[in-house]
Amino acid sequence: MNEVTIIGLGAMGSMLARTLLQKNYRVTVWNRTTEKAEQLVSEGASLAPSVGAAISASPVTIVCVSDYQTSDQLLDTEEAKSAFADRVLIQMSTGSPQQARDNEAWAKALGIEYLDGAIAASPSQIGREDAVIFTSGSAYAFQNSEEVLKSLAGSVPYLGEQVSAAATTDLAFLSYLFGSYLGFFHAARIMESDGLQVSAFGAMLAQISPVIGEVIKYEGELIEAEKYDNPQSSLNICMVTAKLLMKQAREAGINNEFPAFAEQLFARALDAGYGNEEVAALIKILR
Ligand code: NAP
Repeated sequence: MNEVTIIGLGAMGSMLARTLLQKNYRVTVWNRTTEKAEQLVSEGASLAPSVGAAISASPVTIVCVSDYQTSDQLLDTEEAKSAFADRVLIQMSTGSPQQARDNEAWAKALGIEYLDGAIAASPSQIGREDAVIFTSGSAYAFQNSEEVLKSLAGSVPYLGEQVSAAATTDLAFLSYLFGSYLGFFHAARIMESDGLQVSAFGAMLAQISPVIGEVIKYEGELIEAEKYDNPQSSLNICMVTAKLLMKQAREAGINNEFPAFAEQLFARALDAGYGNEEVAALIKILR
């Protein structure tokens, strides 16, 4: 199965199409703004005259447009729906878990094998070993497109038939990433306030990131087991550190919004009597 259709040629869709062309797939493309296909056509892609013609051209269609609403507008037409017979649809536009469930219900009613994909990578990472695309939904669709997906990303976890799993895991990943960003930006202010190099600190974090990953994995296991006694890092000791971050911000005259946010969450956990429990017990406050 070496024919693939890509609908949507923005920053991400173009990269998906280019990568598949480079890996010798026969790629058909469609985009609202036709000019964006010109470069890909010169690289070997076929430009379809309509969404329906694009879907008909390949057994697998990947949609990668701004959002699910845009995708619905493009796919929920009589022409597109009839073109989908016996074909696989992979949705790679970013959406919510509920949108994935709604999309699957729509696809099932039409007999379309539907896989939800969530790209946890930037366009420049597509085709590389370190790129990740989470997938969930039809096992048939996954089996029939696994090779295509592995041409696009080194890691393509199939999270099972629960179609919302890819979108949920992607959002969980983004939450973790945003938390890291915010923590890192405050860390950058701490480094700057003492005349130290932010880039050197970033490089050091990249080096020790497997250790950080181990810590996160351990906290995840404790949360699932609801086992917070016998702490390695107690909420009490985390509160001491949060207060130290606040003290440093005061002394250096830097913004303190990030440690203040952490301090108020830890304070609520301490008020609830969880001070001598593992830091992961903070989840009881979030619940
Ligand atoms: P983009 O560069 O803004 O491209 C948007 C695409 O959607 C274009 O093909 C655009 O067509 C199409 N589109 C928008 N409104 C449309 C409409 N009303 N009718 C028809 N087509 C329409 O976005 P992108 O970066 O490629 O992102 C695409 C998807 O990938 C998004 O869901 C995004 O969240 C996801 N994603 C992106 C990244 C990233 O780093 N870029 C990473 C992970 C996931 P025109 O060319 O005609 O405007």
